[in-house]
Amino acid sequence: MASIDYFECEDCGFRWKDQGPLLFFLNENNKIEEYILLISNMNLDSNSNISGDIIETYCTNCDKKIKIYIISTIKSPYDEDSAIESIRKLADENQIDNKALKPFIRSSDLKDNFYIVDLYRNFYSNKDYHCPNCDSIISKYILSKNKCPKCGGEISSVDGLCLDKF
Ligand SMILES: [Zn+2]
Ligand SMILES: [Zn+2]
Repeated sequence: MASIDYFECEDCGFRWKDQGPLLFFLNENNKIEEYILLISNMNLDSNSNISGDIIETYCTNCDKKIKIYIISTIKSPYDEDSAIESIRKLADENQIDNKALKPFIRSSDLKDNFYIVDLYRNFYSNKDYHCPNCDSIISKYILSKNKCPKCGGEISSVDGLCLDKF
C-alpha cells in the first residue's frame, strides 16, 4: 500500500505529509537515494552496501520536521560504525538523490530540518528518539492521521496520491 497523503490542521494550519513505505540506500553516485517502496522498484537497493528505512517525525518543542534514517543492511567494506558515519556525513551535506520521489512530491517537501541516523535492526521496537536540536523526546510515529502533531487540533486530509499502480 504505497501512498502519499497530505494533511492540514484546521486550527493552526500546520501541514505535513504521510508517505510510505519510505526507504533509502547508498546509491552508485555515493549519495543517499530515498524512495517509496513500489511494486516496480522492489529490488532497487539489492546492489547497495547500506540500506534501510526512513521515519519522518516532528519535534513539537522546536516545531521542526525530523527524518530518521534507520540502517538495516550493511555490506562489506562497511561495518556498523563506518556505515553510520557515511550516512550522517551525506545527510549533513544534503547529498541526497530523489530520483524515485521527485515525480510524486514537491521539492520543498524533500528536505527536513534535522535528521538522525540510527542502526536498528528491529524496526518495530519501542525506542526513544531525542531531537538533535533540543534533545526532547520525539515520537517515532508523529505523522498522525487523527490529530495535529503541533497543537492537537482537528485535521483534514487535503491531498493524496495512491501509488499502488506504479
Ligand atoms: Zn527539538
Ligand atoms: Zn495544529
